[in-house]
Amino acid sequence: MKYISTRGEINPVSFREAVMMGLARDGGLLIPENIPDVSDRLNDWKEMSFIDLAFEVMRLFSDLPEKDLKYLIQRSYTRFDNKDITPVVRVDGIFIMELFHGPTLAFKDVALQFLGNVFEYILKESKQELNILGATSGDTGSAAIQGIRGKDAIRIFIMHPHNKTSKIQEKQMTSVLDDNVFNIAIEGTFDDCQKIMKSLFCDLKFKDSYSLGSINSINWVRVLAQIVYYFYGTFRVMKATEANKVNFAVPTGNFGDIFAGYIALQMGLPIARLVLATNENDILSRFFNSGEYRLGNVVETLSPSMDIQVASNFERYLYYRLGKSPSDVKNMMVSFSRTGTLKIAKGPDGLIDRNIVAGSAGKAETLSTIQQFYDEYGYLLDPHTAVGVNVGLRLKNSDEPMICLATAHPAKFSDAIRQATGRDLAHHPAIDALEGMPTKCDVLPASVSAVRAYMEAKIPST
Ligand SMILES: *Cc1c(COP(=O)(O)O)cnc(C)c1O
Repeated sequence: MKYISTRGEINPVSFREAVMMGLARDGGLLIPENIPDVSDRLNDWKEMSFIDLAFEVMRLFSDLPEKDLKYLIQRSYTRFDNKDITPVVRVDGIFIMELFHGPTLAFKDVALQFLGNVFEYILKESKQELNILGATSGDTGSAAIQGIRGKDAIRIFIMHPHNKTSKIQEKQMTSVLDDNVFNIAIEGTFDDCQKIMKSLFCDLKFKDSYSLGSINSINWVRVLAQIVYYFYGTFRVMKATEANKVNFAVPTGNFGDIFAGYIALQMGLPIARLVLATNENDILSRFFNSGEYRLGNVVETLSPSMDIQVASNFERYLYYRLGKSPSDVKNMMVSFSRTGTLKIAKGPDGLIDRNIVAGSAGKAETLSTIQQFYDEYGYLLDPHTAVGVNVGLRLKNSDEPMICLATAHPAKFSDAIRQATGRDLAHHPAIDALEGMPTKCDVLPASVSAVRAYMEAKIPST
């Protein structure tokens, strides 16, 4: 499979190149040249384990030797604490697919455990090194660190705003002591961290001589790994209910998780509807209801990993929505970066997309959904999952079963659980154990030159 850019101005690249490239050189995002239709294979796949299914799905998009791909997949899920990897549980009238059984207890592990292994594999083959630089306000940093720790030929530098992330999230990052992990607490805000990162990536001399790489959600491998659980969940629920189609409710910020579902749908998986759920940062749900994608200000919510206004994967969706026309994508995105707004016309059915419906849930709805699910069913939802469940129930049609994606374990967001239930209910041994763990972190001023000098000192010259 070759990869092309949503803006159409690069020559097709291989899977390996797509993995290492991140953003395409023309400013677009990489997508597969075509999306394979697997409708005639669903019957053979429906009883498969997560691992076997991952292999069947990923081999269609990768050009790694099959036995190596299989081995990379197997290694990537050994640290999950549930034998099904992404188990599906029935809670009253809905299904919840738990994506939080990996090392950092959030769904990002599903992709980043695999991406770390793929990076290591490609670097070994090409005898190269990679230095990942990232900025995080929370979940991504710890999942990326857990994906890269202890790997050969690869180091990871993660900046977070000093004393401005939650204690749990900070501890999850700084308690990783491996030699190839560097936590940097920046004396500034998350915005400062991002600005420093952008400046260093724009410093092409530095970027090339230190082989800088990134691990953010535009990497195609992250989407790829997430496609797998849409298949897995659909098969489990079809079997349990004898339904022939399912719906998914997906809490989203960067349009990453739900975009994987959108690809699964195009591959022929029988998904009736994808329900897109946002918190108060609702640029995406406004878009799917009105056709207008317009920047707003980011506000703080109970679900911080969705506090995003520009959804980095949206351009990939736009490519398909605009009939795979790279020139239209380019024109729209260029005009969006100038004006902060873009507009799509509704179809004759009055919808922006007949497969995607969208809504948002604010603080009160999030808290009451957590409380209701605990009181009525004894099931604790984390605040991100609660946003998805709230909107999913509101936009549910009665015909097909609803699968809500649970993106984090509630113990990661125990403050929200306390607010919702008035009690300290959310615990997990991995989170409780953080308390007494030793940590490793360096504090630096919010300056590009300080971070550059720090990296130069830590990276041995070759
Ligand atoms: C990152 C994250 C999300 C949002 O995922 P996107 O891919 O940005 O849509 C939702 N919930 C949790 C817990 C997350 O960490």
